[in-house]
Amino acid sequence: MSLVVEDLVVAVRDREIVQGATLHIPRGQVHVIVGPNGSGKSTLLHSIAGDPRYRIVRGRVVFDNVDVTSLDPMERVRLGISLMHQMPPAVKQVNTLDLVKTLERKFGANPIAEKAREILAVDRFLSRPLFYGLSGGEKKRLELYLSLLLKPRLLMLDEPDSGVDVDSLSRIAYTINMLIESKVTLLVVTHRGDILEKLSRIDKVYVMCGGKVRAEGDLSLGLKVLSEGFSKVC
Ligand code: ADP
Ligand code: MG
Repeated sequence: MSLVVEDLVVAVRDREIVQGATLHIPRGQVHVIVGPNGSGKSTLLHSIAGDPRYRIVRGRVVFDNVDVTSLDPMERVRLGISLMHQMPPAVKQVNTLDLVKTLERKFGANPIAEKAREILAVDRFLSRPLFYGLSGGEKKRLELYLSLLLKPRLLMLDEPDSGVDVDSLSRIAYTINMLIESKVTLLVVTHRGDILEKLSRIDKVYVMCGGKVRAEGDLSLGLKVLSEGFSKVC
């Protein structure tokens, strides 16, 4: 099993936002979480990545048989856990190319990232401050490329399809499908579902509402919920 999340309860201050999530993702599989705004999807991904803003109240996260529940984010990255953020903030003080070079030095060359750099057409963003002045779709493309420089074995993608035009969506989907070919384990959050029909493999879909996984099934469950609305399940 690549990723095991067992009965995870996650709080911000006194509020429990994720209220007992359980996921089992075998290596190389692609699992998808759908759910309405505010249901705790991003919080779940951030807590798996070890974001210290979120407090684990109960449960555990196990990656490749290592209990990572109390490891800091950098230790998790070293083990191969990486997160593509929903909306990365612009950082004026950081030059993007410097960051790329630093990551390449630290993690070594990654042929998949090299290919993704072309497919995602990110070269012209590299001379700018990090994410500065980029559109939503451009930010997503750059964030996906940067997350690949960490050589992930588990990549979590938080809404890779939100606010993205059709051309960027195709580039992003092509890149994700390359990761699927290479047996990278994927956990994809989508709330509109645009990416679903473009992925070459989807093993399981979870519907998350109000901090809980309310249903799980195959792709047909995801497509049904996304066409009929969340209210029947939530
Ligand atoms: P989703 O990704 O499903 O839209 P989130 O995980 O972003 O949902 O948020 C779930 C709920 O937790 C929301 O009500 C949000 O306002 C709240 N929340 C998330 N992060 C924080 C935070 N750092 N501080 C306070 N509230 C938060
Ligand atoms: Mg979110």
